[in-house]
Amino acid sequence: MSETASPDPELFDKIVNLSKRRGFVFQSAEIYGGFRSTYDYGPLGVLLLRNVKDAWWRSMVQQRHDVVGLDASILSPPQVWQASGHLANFSDPLVDCTNCNARHRLDKLDDPNVCPACGSEGTFTEAREFNLMFKTHAGPVTETAAEVYLRPETAQGMFINFANVLNTSRKRPPFGIAQIGKSFRNEITPGNFVFRTREFEQMEMEFFVPPAESRQWYEYWCQTRMDWYLDLGMDPAKIKLRAHDDDELSHYSSGTSDVEYLFPWGWDELEGIANRGDFDLTQHATHSGEKLDFFDQANNERYVPHVIEPAAGATRTAMAFLMDAYDEEVVNDDTRTVLRLDHRLAPYKIAVLPLSKKDTLTPTAMEVFDSLKGRWMVDYDETQSIGKRYARQDEVGTPYCITVDFETLEDRAVTVRERDTREQDRVSLDQLEGYLAERLS
Ligand code: ATP
Repeated sequence: MSETASPDPELFDKIVNLSKRRGFVFQSAEIYGGFRSTYDYGPLGVLLLRNVKDAWWRSMVQQRHDVVGLDASILSPPQVWQASGHLANFSDPLVDCTNCNARHRLDKLDDPNVCPACGSEGTFTEAREFNLMFKTHAGPVTETAAEVYLRPETAQGMFINFANVLNTSRKRPPFGIAQIGKSFRNEITPGNFVFRTREFEQMEMEFFVPPAESRQWYEYWCQTRMDWYLDLGMDPAKIKLRAHDDDELSHYSSGTSDVEYLFPWGWDELEGIANRGDFDLTQHATHSGEKLDFFDQANNERYVPHVIEPAAGATRTAMAFLMDAYDEEVVNDDTRTVLRLDHRLAPYKIAVLPLSKKDTLTPTAMEVFDSLKGRWMVDYDETQSIGKRYARQDEVGTPYCITVDFETLEDRAVTVRERDTREQDRVSLDQLEGYLAERLS
């Protein structure tokens, strides 16, 4: 890691503006004044987010023989959260400032005696433990017996399906169950755009191992997860692995490390990797009365597997990639904004841009679009000058722009412009797919 990387506070507003202006992220319920700290992913945001999740799924499930997928329900009965400890412990300490009424999470304050909203000292109420789970009711009767919870993490779905997966997939430890999905936390202080929201998406994997191998697998997953971010182009100077101090560890964890990114406000968490021991399976076995263990025939021994959990946020990670890719450079006295996103993450891989709106070019431009759309996400844009259209595509990270011009009608060739170098090649239509495949794969 470079010692020179420092946070860039100005980047925050640039990303929020770009997100709104170009349709990555919108404030939810904006036409009704906005629903605080919830967000909707627009036409470009949904593609970026999907690409982040696909990249994770490819590396965590598709490319591994020892991990399988799951999609568990979001609504779950109290028994699950009783066993997991969330009903008793999934809370944050909440304080109110008696001077300005601002509400804070005590453990996130720089100084636990000073209100960051009004600067008063010693004006906080006693801390109250506030449970972060959203509660609702299943069915028409609003009675305690019908209480259910929106999951605050996807992980419990993997633990309660451990036996189902073991019995149906023919996997044996070491093996993992992976899931991507929405989670909900009634955060006291949501903020920093989509960094901390009450509804968000997670990408989590529970890797079940023989107890004696847990340390080795923990180290393996710390490294493997770091490599995933770096392979997708994240700046090595802005990402680090931070091992928790002993006093930060949960009582059952024998090791936790956070993958941290240098956000505009400083280093903050992208993902946690924890060695959870046999805590979760043992808890669910005790509470459900079901056996959640593994019989190792080769060694004639029964054991409760230990769990290594890499738990990442999809929405948070998508924002980190957006921030990491943002670049401005001066070209001919103009500032050009470029998202230098890895090709795999770029919302559109290609944009087809007929040089003019004239009907004569449209059929050939549509022919180019049709020839590529089966393989890649392709944008089609015939409005404004070509320079403005290149700028629009640079700003959203499209790696290749294809211009169809009047010569195309004669020579059946197009101009392909690369995003980062702005270099242009003339490529004949019959070579086009191969040319792009070589560069986009
Ligand atoms: P924090 O300390 O920031 O509240 P956490 O340590 O409780 O987070 P985990 O329970 O380990 O977070 O969740 C795993 C990942 O899920 C986090 O690293 C983060 O990327 C994501 N995540 C958790 N809470 C939120 C949230 N409110 N909004 C967006 N992403 C979240």
